[in-house]
Amino acid sequence: MKHIRNRLFIDEKSNTAERDTTIYLAVENGCNTLVFSMNDRFFKNENKNQKYVKLIYNNAIFIEAGGHDFPLLLPESLFLFQSDLFRMEQGKRKSKHHFCPTNPKTISIIAENSQKYFSRVLQKMTAPRIFHLLPNKGHEETWCACPACRAFSPAEQYLIAVNTAADVLAKLDREARIMYVDFDAEPDAEGISPRGNLVKAAVIGDI
Ligand SMILES: [Zn+2]
Repeated sequence: MKHIRNRLFIDEKSNTAERDTTIYLAVENGCNTLVFSMNDRFFKNENKNQKYVKLIYNNAIFIEAGGHDFPLLLPESLFLFQSDLFRMEQGKRKSKHHFCPTNPKTISIIAENSQKYFSRVLQKMTAPRIFHLLPNKGHEETWCACPACRAFSPAEQYLIAVNTAADVLAKLDREARIMYVDFDAEPDAEGISPRGNLVKAAVIGDI
C-alpha cells in the first residue's frame, strides 16, 4: 500500500499536450499524486477524453486539489465596490495579494466560496482527501496592516483564513485535510491555533 504521496502541482494554464508530457514524465519519476487548482478544467469534466486524464486513471494517480487558490475564495473583482475586504498598506486598500482577514465580511465570503469550490471538486479527489491552501507565491508575508489586523503577524492572518476554510471542509468531509505552510519567523508567536484538520507542510519548498 502506498502511504507517501509524491506530489506534482499542475499549472492551471498548461495545455493538454503539456499535461500529457508532464504527467507521463512524472509517473516515470515516481510521482503518484497530482494537485489541480480547484478551478482547473480537470474538475469540470471538459477534458474527460483527453490523453492526460486517461494517463491519470490508468496509473491510479491520487488526485488532490488547491494550491495558490485564495484568489478563488476572495475574487479580486470584489475590490471595486468592497475594497475594505482587501488588505491595507500604508493606509490604502490594495486589490493584490491577500485581504483583510479580520473583516467578518471577508471571512464570510471565504467560507461561502470554500463551500462552493470544495463541494465542486470533492468527488474527483482521492480519499483521504487533501487540499492545499497556500499564500500567494512570492508574497507569503504580504498581508493586511489595518488597525485590526496589525495585532496579527502575516502567518497568523493567513491562518485565520485557512481556519475558515478548514471549518467549512470539516462539515463536508470529516476525513479531509488541508495542508498549510507555517512561515512565521517567530516560533513562539502564539495567537491563532490551527484547526484539527490542518496539516503543516514541512517547508515551503517541499510543496
Ligand atoms: Zn485588515
